Amino acid sequence: MRDETLSIHAGYETDPITKSVAVPIYQTVAYEFESAEHGAALFDLEVPGNIYTRLSNPTTAVLERRIAVLEGGVDALCVGSGMAAIHYAIANVAEAGTNIVSTPQLYGATYTLFEHVLRKQGIDVRFARRDGPADVESLIDENTRAVYCESIGNPGGGIADIEGLAEVAHRNGLPLIVDNTIATPILLKPIQFGADVVVHSLTKFVGGHGTTMGGAIVDSGNFPWTQHSHRFPMLTKPEAAYHGVTYTEQYGRGAYVARCRTVCQRNTGAILAPLSAFLLLQGAETLALRVERHLENTEKVAEFLSRHPKVAWCEVIGRGSALARELSLKYLRGRSGPFLTFGLRGGFEEGKRFYNALKLFKRLVNIGDAKSLACHPASTTHRQLTEQELAQVGVKPEMIRLCIGIEHIDDILADLDQALAAACPSIAGRAPALRLASSGG
Ligand SMILES: *Cc1c(COP(=O)(O)O)cnc(C)c1O
Repeated sequence: MRDETLSIHAGYETDPITKSVAVPIYQTVAYEFESAEHGAALFDLEVPGNIYTRLSNPTTAVLERRIAVLEGGVDALCVGSGMAAIHYAIANVAEAGTNIVSTPQLYGATYTLFEHVLRKQGIDVRFARRDGPADVESLIDENTRAVYCESIGNPGGGIADIEGLAEVAHRNGLPLIVDNTIATPILLKPIQFGADVVVHSLTKFVGGHGTTMGGAIVDSGNFPWTQHSHRFPMLTKPEAAYHGVTYTEQYGRGAYVARCRTVCQRNTGAILAPLSAFLLLQGAETLALRVERHLENTEKVAEFLSRHPKVAWCEVIGRGSALARELSLKYLRGRSGPFLTFGLRGGFEEGKRFYNALKLFKRLVNIGDAKSLACHPASTTHRQLTEQELAQVGVKPEMIRLCIGIEHIDDILADLDQALAAACPSIAGRAPALRLASSGG
């Protein structure tokens, strides 16, 4: 079946006892054993089944199956946030004394996790100078345990060369972990290009309505852990943290997620609440429709802004350079991504005035909501930085980031146009694209 169908049906069939068509919310902590022997068999992982919601929950299991199927993986674990998913994905294979190699373009909290938190726990994170495979490979050594990248960087907007990075990782006996939050499996399926593990913030486009936090770790099932047993004894040798189970023997291709669930999640507890799993499933049902509309609206806004007399520059995912266009063709079927940045003519004050004049767009830090969202980094998220530091991290004082929602394009463009007029009253001219969009209905 295709993505549109799988997003609605994968992982659930009408409940045979209650006939509930919607996925039931199993708001329970524990599950009754039929007998002492049944309980023992469950704990020994000899029979499948639920024990305690810190291990598994039937509502969350539907979401796990759905995300795994959409990404083309064998199994998934859903957790309480995207950051928990990223932490677990790494903690499952890297220990104190080892390292991972990451591309430099990263989500802010991921950078902090890598640079400050993991480092203090003894896992050295090496940041490549650039996002390309050669820069990553030069940092790999015998203590490396994984290669990490974002398929589309947030907020950088660069598209990763997943196939190239997977080749480099596999040549060195390592799994490639890809954060696919921004692309979503509708736009890109990293496993098709060789990724071994895919992580998500479900908080963003999968949930899609800015209501619920969640994360996912998807296992392709393809990485040959047993061939690299000396690096990954946690998967191929008896695990002390779960009374001696050997994950690759017990779970075969599902070893990675099984350990993530029974060691990482069971013992540190960043579970997804069953109610959150239910809400994220509601979002997942319309993911394909929404992604298409987010992209279509973003492309129209980019066209509008790049022709607007009050706009100095506009940067769009997959359009900035010949390499970006090539990567967009290969990985995103030539499409752009769901956010953009632009600068109006002027500086910090004009940027701030524009930001304050927005009426439909919400002023906040988030992405992936049905609503259009805007951020003026220089006056909000990056306000503590000096002008020099701003330049270093690539934030211009007039820069605005927009994550375009799924409202009608005419209303989106009208709000941008009126805010531009308010921000730069001395620059004459109206936007031709606004009239075009309106007359097109
Ligand atoms: C938001 C985000 C995260 C973190 O997800 P949370 O659900 O907020 O914890 C990680 N990676 C990317 C690319 C994100 O956009």
